[in-house]
Amino acid sequence: MLKDYFKKLYTGSQQEFCELAANAMDQGQRMFIITANPETMMIGDSNEGMDQALCSPESTIVPDGIGVVKAAEQLGKTMHGRVTGVELSAYLINHVGTTGKSVYFYGAKQEVLDALIAKVKADYPEINIVGSHNGYGNCDDQVFEEIVSLQPDLVLVALGIPRQEILINKYLDKFSKGIFIGVGGSFDVLSGTKKRAPAIFCKLNLEWLYRIMKEPKRFSRFFKSNVRFISKIRKIKSL
Ligand code: UDP
Repeated sequence: MLKDYFKKLYTGSQQEFCELAANAMDQGQRMFIITANPETMMIGDSNEGMDQALCSPESTIVPDGIGVVKAAEQLGKTMHGRVTGVELSAYLINHVGTTGKSVYFYGAKQEVLDALIAKVKADYPEINIVGSHNGYGNCDDQVFEEIVSLQPDLVLVALGIPRQEILINKYLDKFSKGIFIGVGGSFDVLSGTKKRAPAIFCKLNLEWLYRIMKEPKRFSRFFKSNVRFISKIRKIKSL
């Protein structure tokens, strides 16, 4: 339930969380990170698999969307800004690329994945990419069986919510270590295929507006989940 997601929401800063995740990787720990926006939470409120992922004692929920930060503040939490999937992924790819750890990329279109891998290899020539697969083969289980056999230090899954979280949650206990993150559209941004919002949008916490302007078909999905989210937060607050 929505209320429970806020109980376990990470409240620290982006930098602190990036360091915490990199440290967990270095220690050989297992960590499942859910980068949440209001839509993530509303899907969890009505989808059993997503709810299980969000409520799992193994998962850490970080506030990717400004709506989640604001709602948490309304519920009395002291927040330290957003922790975005794009920045967290970039930080951990850098960590993998400079420490000899390994990474697997699952999801997005083949051309996006190719562009991402080319960029990552150009930035970190020594990086150990143990495997990759596009997200359009209808073969989530086969891909995850492969990832299990490889036991990478970092697994980035870009399939969209809730598919990516439900999949990670299903296979998590087959891994002895690794940082697992559902990163949504981050491969599109990190590969340079899609532009991230200009700095002014990010600074004003209006990245969501930029995304809707670029992809108007997102509006209805965004509007419905945010209206429901705000009304649910009001209810929780009044309890
Ligand atoms: N995607 C995929 N397979 C699919 C549907 C989507 O790999 O069957 C990818 C898509 O190419 C994109 C990501 O999943 O890279 C989802 O991006 P989106 O921005 O929709 O993420 P969300 O808003 O769900 O975080």
